[in-house]
Amino acid sequence: MNILLLGPQGSGKGTQAKRISATYGIPQVATGDMIREMKERDTPLGRRVREIYDRGELVDDETIIDLIRDRLDRGDTIPGFILDGFPRNMAQAEALDVLLRELDRDLDVVFEFQVPDRATLLDRMVKRAAEEGRSDDTPDAIRKRLAIYDAETAPLIEYYRSTRGNVVGIHADRPVDDVFVEVRQAVDQVAARA
Ligand code: AMP
Repeated sequence: MNILLLGPQGSGKGTQAKRISATYGIPQVATGDMIREMKERDTPLGRRVREIYDRGELVDDETIIDLIRDRLDRGDTIPGFILDGFPRNMAQAEALDVLLRELDRDLDVVFEFQVPDRATLLDRMVKRAAEEGRSDDTPDAIRKRLAIYDAETAPLIEYYRSTRGNVVGIHADRPVDDVFVEVRQAVDQVAARA
């Protein structure tokens, strides 16, 4: 079961990804976590990534695609994977399509986590930054990430609707358990069809 989670920062993708991972025994592949690990390294790449991260901008496509290629090459993704935070733009979506073809795999379901209220999202993310000690997640960087989501990532929903027809919309502004019930139903339905 290969799952893609799309949705703005603060929509609960990461939380749901962890639940899916625990329930179905497939790994969460979260590029944000990989990047946070990378930016702590005292290497030229680590330092470059840190600057980009702190500005709330996107790391270059090549770096991210290399990360994903390496990750999906690992055997633990063979039963399935949950992509969380990738792809973020059209170039990444196209690169993912090429990679999936090479690997002879495809996305079984694409979830769109919908939270219309930007103020709610900003609020949640500022809180999370404090709770998780992410001092680099300043309100400015968070605002920038949301703007990039609307401009570059949201159009991917239409891309997957037209190329795969397997997008499932989720009203994500509800309690975690309620959201997960809906996610699980959709995953089980897709699994039953396979
Ligand atoms: P996230 O935790 O998913 O919001 O990611 C945090 C930061 O990591 C982003 O603001 C980017 O700087 C970087 N990042 C994560 N995923 C990607 C991606 N797919 N493409 C480019 N940059 C990314």
